[in-house]
Amino acid sequence: MNLYRMRCDCESVSLMAEGAPVAKAYCHCTDCRDFYSTPVLAATAWQKTSLSVTGGRESIGEHTHPHKQLTKYFCVRCGDTLFGSNRIGMYVIPNKQLWRTLEGALGSMRPEFHLFYRQRVVDIDDNLPKYLDGRTGELFVA
Ligand SMILES: [Zn+2]
Ligand SMILES: [Zn+2]
Repeated sequence: MNLYRMRCDCESVSLMAEGAPVAKAYCHCTDCRDFYSTPVLAATAWQKTSLSVTGGRESIGEHTHPHKQLTKYFCVRCGDTLFGSNRIGMYVIPNKQLWRTLEGALGSMRPEFHLFYRQRVVDIDDNLPKYLDGRTGELFVA
């Protein structure tokens, strides 16, 4: 079983993910961009049972979007976003968290496709599949 240990910037909170993510992707949707304050969200999605808080639970703050089914969890001391939960009940771990764990080598956590590419604000020049909307829909053709 693979274990991935993560900590926030100030190291008050520590987390552990076990096993493997359900999906590894770049998401270009407006919701992710706004909620995670990034032009593209590089992240992995996990079953809720795969993620546990191993320290500093009292320092975790939580914000649920007033209109969307999105919640994010952050460190109240340093403000670092730890993970979020999405509409389909999975936890979303931004790759910046895993990056620290994996010491700069994303390796097996590297995104495998792009989602909601139609909503992008930056063009990406790579060879990964780019779904214009969700993963079952149409692909972008350059
Ligand atoms: Zn912190
Ligand atoms: Zn998204």
